[in-house]
Amino acid sequence: MTKYYSENGAVLTLTRDQINEKYKWNLRDIYSSDDEWENNFAWVEISLGDYDNFRGKLKDSPQILLSCFQFDDEVGIKLERLYLYAMLNKDSDMSVSVYQAMDSRVKTLYSKVSAANSFINPELLKIPDEILLNMIHSLEGLKIYEHSVNELLRKKVHTLNKEEEEILAMAAEIAQIPHTSFSLFTNADMKFEKILDDNGNEIEISQSKFYASLYSPNREFRERSFKTYLKPFSEYAITLSSLFNGNLKVNIFNAKARKYSSAREAALDANNIPLSVYDNLVQAANDNLKPLHRWAELKKKMLKLNELHPYDVYVSLFSANESRKYQYDEGVEIVCNALQPLGSNYIESLKLAFNNRWIDIYESRSKKSGAYSSGTTFGVHPYVLLNWTDLLNDVFTLAHEMGHNMHSYFTGMNQPYPYANYSIFLAEVASTFNESLLLDYLISNSDSKENKLFLLEKYLNNITATFYRQTMFAEFEMNVYSRTENGEALTHDLLCNMYRDIYQKYWGPAMVIDKEEEYTWARVPHFYYNFYVYQYATGFAASEVLANKVKYEKKSAVDKYLLFLKSGSSDYSINILKNAGVDMNSSESVIAATKKMDQLLDEVEKLLI
Ligand SMILES: [Zn+2]
Repeated sequence: MTKYYSENGAVLTLTRDQINEKYKWNLRDIYSSDDEWENNFAWVEISLGDYDNFRGKLKDSPQILLSCFQFDDEVGIKLERLYLYAMLNKDSDMSVSVYQAMDSRVKTLYSKVSAANSFINPELLKIPDEILLNMIHSLEGLKIYEHSVNELLRKKVHTLNKEEEEILAMAAEIAQIPHTSFSLFTNADMKFEKILDDNGNEIEISQSKFYASLYSPNREFRERSFKTYLKPFSEYAITLSSLFNGNLKVNIFNAKARKYSSAREAALDANNIPLSVYDNLVQAANDNLKPLHRWAELKKKMLKLNELHPYDVYVSLFSANESRKYQYDEGVEIVCNALQPLGSNYIESLKLAFNNRWIDIYESRSKKSGAYSSGTTFGVHPYVLLNWTDLLNDVFTLAHEMGHNMHSYFTGMNQPYPYANYSIFLAEVASTFNESLLLDYLISNSDSKENKLFLLEKYLNNITATFYRQTMFAEFEMNVYSRTENGEALTHDLLCNMYRDIYQKYWGPAMVIDKEEEYTWARVPHFYYNFYVYQYATGFAASEVLANKVKYEKKSAVDKYLLFLKSGSSDYSINILKNAGVDMNSSESVIAATKKMDQLLDEVEKLLI
């Protein structure tokens, strides 16, 4: 669809104007013209001075407080809309400098707005709690702000006085150094050796080539690539462990300064997630490692290996019909069919997106690569960027991104502006939920044994990569922090041993670990994200439970799921999931994910007999 050839036969990608309008998103739903964008931009810039009407006066009356909140919302709504228009235009064609400029102008405007409204929270926190809550209850219009105000009060004990907050703000830049240095060192300074690729050509190994090589059926190449790529991480282990420790200490320092008992508690408190959710995830996964051990044994057997090594776990055991192409329209039809269990309301909303150009489908010259959903922008429907290449993977990407898109759409339609967004803890639930329904649909409709095995393997790999591997990382992360908080010094040898033990425990007796694998702690950027990875695992586990309920409990489960999509951030994430039907404080969700893995393995084994 999007490729054409030059006279010398080179593949060229179409320019944006060579693609039919109906396959491109309609950004006129945001602003009718660039001029309208400029007018709105100017409005926000001029209005910044109006914050002075409220400064120092918030305690004076509920009416002033309400006017301030409403004014701040109006600025926020305009700002997000300006940002959306600039970002989507920029990503459509990154060679157009006018949209690059609009994008950076709106980012500067963001900082001006946050400087202008930064007095609001400290001023609110100075009002005694009871008086502030009375003010909120005394005026109808203020009631929608109650949850935000409660959230502010909840964090009051961890908010410091003005001078201390200023010192922390000054330290924030220094606190970035370990992470920035890690990125620069591993991406810029570190040099990797050349190796022979699958076809005997010399290539310089890089992160993306390393990942790609792990899927190669050529085992010698996989091993060569694995050992060569990881070599510098072991050679620079002293520097890398110093950066790793530096990052731990930054987060421990911030947590202590804000009177948290641990870095983990501080990180989870941002979304009011109890520590028990994390503990429970790790414990329940540990109690249910058998399915992963079983998968490792099966891989070893199917690959006819004497020893299973870390570089053997990504290679496909089963292949599908590779010439099978999926046109975009067929992809849409498949996704709509797979999501039928969600009912007509969901499907109608999906069709709104498909029929009204919310999606930018095909690759074009200088368009941003990959795929994303734009999230909720109040008052406008959300958009999706794709780069469709007619592969089955594109169908999965479509289902995934439409999960985000519908979550944003339902939230935007049902929440007032302050809650028209959702936390990272919830973000991946709706997307993986759709992938799960799609896999089930494709598996039950597959036309051949080969195809079915291929899809079952895809599902098994999803559970391995998103659930088990991320829980393993989360457990490692928890352990390194608690040992540091207990005063232990984490040398590179200790980090290697800790990683090795945990990797062996998760993969079980079939796995034979090479020394190189132990340096995973030294190369994974997520270990610099401060207790982020556990959310991949909890999100996946939650979506498994919800997808199961929708499949088997039908109507009431669907209604609850739609309620989840509509909830935005109007309540704490844990409560929102609980209302949807999954209690993240129990091991139910973890067990659902591991049980699913066992069922899939049963199906695979049955087909192999
Ligand atoms: Zn996603």
